[in-house]
Amino acid sequence: LPKNHISHYDLNKLTVTPDALVNKEEVLILTPMSKFVPEYWANLNKLSYDHNLITLGFILPRTKEGDHALKSLESAIKKTQSNQGKFKKITILRQDSNSLESQLEKDRHALKVQKERRSMMALARNSLVFSTMSPATSWVLWLDADIIESPQTLLQDLMAHDKPVISANVYQRYVDDKTKQESIRPYDFNNWVESEEGLKIAAGLKDDEIVVEGYAEMATYRPLMAHYYDANGDVSTEMALDGVGGGAVLVKADVHRDGAMFPSFPFYHLIETEGFAKMAKRLGYDVFGLPNYLVYHFNE
Ligand code: GDP
Ligand code: MN
Repeated sequence: LPKNHISHYDLNKLTVTPDALVNKEEVLILTPMSKFVPEYWANLNKLSYDHNLITLGFILPRTKEGDHALKSLESAIKKTQSNQGKFKKITILRQDSNSLESQLEKDRHALKVQKERRSMMALARNSLVFSTMSPATSWVLWLDADIIESPQTLLQDLMAHDKPVISANVYQRYVDDKTKQESIRPYDFNNWVESEEGLKIAAGLKDDEIVVEGYAEMATYRPLMAHYYDANGDVSTEMALDGVGGGAVLVKADVHRDGAMFPSFPFYHLIETEGFAKMAKRLGYDVFGLPNYLVYHFNE
């Protein structure tokens, strides 16, 4: 430690490049976690980016479910951190804000709870990023706790695009009831391009009302990245987006440093991750998605 207890960081020298590994750029992987999914942990540990350059940050709700997840996470961490390939640093936060009572899929996806749920998620994400980002962080990867499968090169692959914000396409594996065949289907509909209809709906809302995507009651006709997946297409195909989900999104840390966060209030009638995309764009950053680059969500 310097004698005078002053640490100097020249943010001008902090690089954020497609050659991140060569330049030893530090990555902060952030995960809000209501449950611990072992496959998520296994997948995270298989990422091939240098773990010495990776810091992990978690935020868990102050509920019974959160207590349970915390125990599992801590015991998983104990094993990993005593091995080679341990991460540089791990921070676990307990939420001071509220969270939903029921995390059952049908309850948490009901239209009437979206504003409340997404707004609580926004507060949790903001606490997480503002408490864990350091002056040495070059990149932030938002990775949900139920993303159970991705390429091992997830970080390098997303970094290679050199975009301020870039989202993978979140799919889900399932077994077709009729054919008994294993198949895949779109999961996250929050990666979208704004539409005339979407803007029209927003224009008719009261100040405190929001537009949420993926509900028939609110037909936006927005082009959804989930529907642009082409199994035979180039995995590096890019698509400009106006809204993103939180499943697997890589953000240049400067975007957050400049003030882009997850609005817990209607921002252009958008909140949480979709509001974040809007805020990044208002700050002058472009937002992209990779329709043919899939990661997989846990199937409850
Ligand atoms: P969905 O996939 O859109 O249905 O959203 P999820 O319920 O999976 O939530 C997104 C992410 O936030 C996942 O990583 C969850 O584990 C996590 N999560 C969900 N609810 C809470 C909460 O109340 N507090 C915190 N800290 N994390 C949560
Ligand atoms: Mn999820």
